[in-house]
Amino acid sequence: MAKRGVMEVSLIFPPAEIIQRYYKGLIYLAARTCYSEKTPQQIWDEFLSDKVPPERVHSLLTHVIESGHHSTIEHISFTFAISGVSRALSHQLVRHRIGVAFDQQSQRYVKYKEALYVTPPSIEQNPDALQEFERLRDTSEAVYHRFLEMGIPAEDARFVFPNAVTTNLIMTVNLRQLMHMAGLRLCTLAQWEIRQLFKLIRKELMQADPYFGRLLVPKCVPLGYCDEKRNEDEHCKIRPHRNSVFRVWELYKQGKLIERGK
Ligand SMILES: Cc1cc2nc3c(=O)[nH]c(=O)nc-3n(C[C@H](O)[C@H](O)[C@H](O)COP(=O)(O)OP(=O)(O)OC[C@H]3O[C@@H](n4cnc5c(N)ncnc54)[C@H](O)[C@@H]3O)c2cc1C
Repeated sequence: MAKRGVMEVSLIFPPAEIIQRYYKGLIYLAARTCYSEKTPQQIWDEFLSDKVPPERVHSLLTHVIESGHHSTIEHISFTFAISGVSRALSHQLVRHRIGVAFDQQSQRYVKYKEALYVTPPSIEQNPDALQEFERLRDTSEAVYHRFLEMGIPAEDARFVFPNAVTTNLIMTVNLRQLMHMAGLRLCTLAQWEIRQLFKLIRKELMQADPYFGRLLVPKCVPLGYCDEKRNEDEHCKIRPHRNSVFRVWELYKQGKLIERGK
């Protein structure tokens, strides 16, 4: 019987103390360098000697993030260890190309003694489907080991594995791209496993510094509306669908909008 993979995510670098001590300062430095006569060295020295009130740092950070001056947040990066996720997930994850680096466990060089598998909840909850799934999983694993015994190289034997087989990755990502990825992957319409991954990434960041954790939200939050076609019925209520926003906007332009309480 094949064992289940368990998704685990750890923020392995930098440690929380470094994030709390320097990361807001780095964004502050990048932004102030744009708007100040002072040299970056002077600005950094002021920050390190605690001459800049934290409220000032926060207010500049809020300004650059809300105004879209997002090159400033590319100066900080986070490295996550990700394990026990399916190859179905990793294939989606590595589609992100900009501001992110991945290293992933090789199926060419690693010969699995025992492969681990992710079972989707919809299959888990359906006894007939689960039986089929387990049969396929056990067969693929048995064939994999038989192929290795026959001298088939691991890089070829792996062809029998389904998408459900687990993998491990290291991901280093700058804050701008992490916010972009979280925006897509925390959406309630995103695929369940990658959504779960980004919830864990958010949790890790919240533990290290809630300021950064809170920046990881579905894309509709900063946008103010949902742009997903599949949510035209507004079953997800995090934000109104853009169709509703435009309808209200039309009514407003025509002077037909009655304000509440009037
Ligand atoms: C819900 C959902 C469903 C999806 N379904 C499918 C699917 O069915 N099939 C499929 O193939 N993929 C699918 N994808 C993957 C998707 O198309 C993207 O490849 C993936 O989300 C990477 O995001 P990104 O394009 O924003 O690229 P990233 O690499 O994350 O880039 C970040 C941003 O940089 C800019 N950028 C990056 N590269 C370029 C470039 N070459 N030129 C111009 N600007 C660039 C863009 O603004 C981009 O948004 C899906 C993704 C989601 C979230």
